[in-house]
Amino acid sequence: MLRSIKGRLLLWIFLSMTILFAGLGYALHFKLHYAVNDSLDKLLHANLQFVKGMIHTHDGKNIECESDEFIKGDYTIPDSGHYYKVFVGESLLSVSKSLIEPDFNLTPGEPLSYDASKQEWIYQLTGPNDEPLRSIRHEFTYMDTPIRIVVTEETSASLRLVHQLINYFLLITPVMITLIAVISLIIAEFSLRPVQHFSDALKRISHKNLEERILTGKQAKELRRLAEKFNSLLERLQQAFEAEKNLLGDAAHELKTPLAVIKAECDIALQRERSAADHAASLQNVREVADGMLGQVNSLLTLTRLDSGLLDASSFARISFTSCVEDAVLLAETLARKKNIVLSAALNEELTVLGDEGSLTEAALNLIENAVKYNHPGGFVAVSLTQHGNMAVFSVSDTGIGISEEERERIFDRFYRAAAARSSHDGSGLGLSIVQAVVRTHGGDITVEGQEGGGSRFTITLPLADEAA
Ligand code: ADP
Repeated sequence: MLRSIKGRLLLWIFLSMTILFAGLGYALHFKLHYAVNDSLDKLLHANLQFVKGMIHTHDGKNIECESDEFIKGDYTIPDSGHYYKVFVGESLLSVSKSLIEPDFNLTPGEPLSYDASKQEWIYQLTGPNDEPLRSIRHEFTYMDTPIRIVVTEETSASLRLVHQLINYFLLITPVMITLIAVISLIIAEFSLRPVQHFSDALKRISHKNLEERILTGKQAKELRRLAEKFNSLLERLQQAFEAEKNLLGDAAHELKTPLAVIKAECDIALQRERSAADHAASLQNVREVADGMLGQVNSLLTLTRLDSGLLDASSFARISFTSCVEDAVLLAETLARKKNIVLSAALNEELTVLGDEGSLTEAALNLIENAVKYNHPGGFVAVSLTQHGNMAVFSVSDTGIGISEEERERIFDRFYRAAAARSSHDGSGLGLSIVQAVVRTHGGDITVEGQEGGGSRFTITLPLADEAA
C-alpha cells in the first residue's frame, strides 16, 4: 500500500483527519465543560444574590432570613438539587427545605476556585444521592457579624448534555473520516488518471515502434515536462537503435565481400590438382583477406565498446598527450619507411590531458597511418602538437591523395571509404569513426581540411588537464 501513490495519499489523509478530529474532540470537550461550568457559576451567583437579599434585621439586633415567606418552588422540594444554607458566624441561620439532611456539608474539601473580587469560592462535590453538585460560598459582614451563604446546584443535567454532545461527536467522527477517505479515494483516482494515461501511452511503445512519441499536448501540465523528457529519450533510443541496426547491416555487408573472396579462393584451389606452391599462394591470399576481416571485427568491437560507454571520464587519468603522440609516431615509422614516406614530428610542448592513454595513442596512430596509407610514394607526413589557450592541438598533414569536399562530410561515417581508397583491401572504413568517438569521449573534436596542392590535414583538439586538478 505504501508503494502506491494512492495508498500513501489515503494514509496521509486518514492520519491527518484522525489527528484533526481527535484535536477537535478534545477542544470541544474542554470548551463545552468550560461553557457549562461558566453558566452554572453565573446561575449560582444570581441565586446567591437572591438569598443574600433575604437577609435582614427587624430590630437592628437579630439577623433573620426571610426564606420561609419568599422562597417557594425548587428550594422547597426535597432533594431537588437546588440548595442553600446561611450561617451567621458558625451557626446555621437558615437552610433550604430541599436539603433533607440539613447537616450535609455543601462545601467539603478544597475549593475549585476563588474569586477574590466577589469573595466567592466554588466547590465541586457529590450530593446526598450521589448526584454531582456545584456550590458557591460567599462571605460578608452584616451588622459587624460575619455571614456565610452557600448556594448549590445539581449539575447532572448540564453534564449529561455535554456528554451527549461529545458522544454525538465521537459517533460521527468515524463516519466523517470514512466519508473523507472515500472522497479522497475518488480525488486520488481522478488526480492519478493522467499518470495512468501516461503509462498507457508508454506501454504502446516498444522497440518495434520507437518512432512513436507521447503527445505532450494531451498530457496534464505537470506531466508535460516528463513527456518531453521521455520523447527526447525515445529520440536518442531510436537513433541508437537505428545506428545499431545500420552498423549490423553494414558489418554483414562488409564481411560478405572478403568471405566471398575466401570462398572463391577455396573453390579455385579445390577445382583441380594444384602444385604445393599454388596451394601456398591460395592460402596466402586467404590469410591476407582473413587478416583484413580480423582487423574489421576488432574495429567493430572497439566501436561497440565505445558506444556502450565503456570508455568514460570516470576511468580517465592525467596523462601526457605528448607521450601518446610520440608512441604513435614511433609505431607508424615502420609503415612510413616501407612506403617511402618522410614522417616528421614537431612535438615541442609537454601537454597533459585527462584521458585514456591507450585510446588516445590508438587515435593518433590511426591518423598518422592514414596519412601514410593514402600518400604518394616519396610523400610527406608532418605531425605537430601545440597548445592553443587551454586546448592541445594535434595535427597530421600529408601530401597524399586528398579528400574531395563531399567525401570530407562522410569519412567519419562508419564503413565509409572514399572512392580512391575502395580499391585497397587495407582498411575497414571504421578507423576515423573510432578516432572521432575517442576524441568526443575526451571532450574534444576532430576536423579535416584539404591542403593546398593536394593532401589533407586532420586536426584533433583536446581540453588540457586543469593544472590544479
Ligand atoms: P580506412 O582507412 O580503414 O578505410 P578510415 O575510417 O580510417 O578507414 O578512413 C575512412 C576513409 O577516409 C578512408 O577510406 C579514406 O578514403 C579516407 N581517408 C582517411 N584518411 C585520409 C587521408 N589522410 N588522405 C586521404 N583520404 C583519407
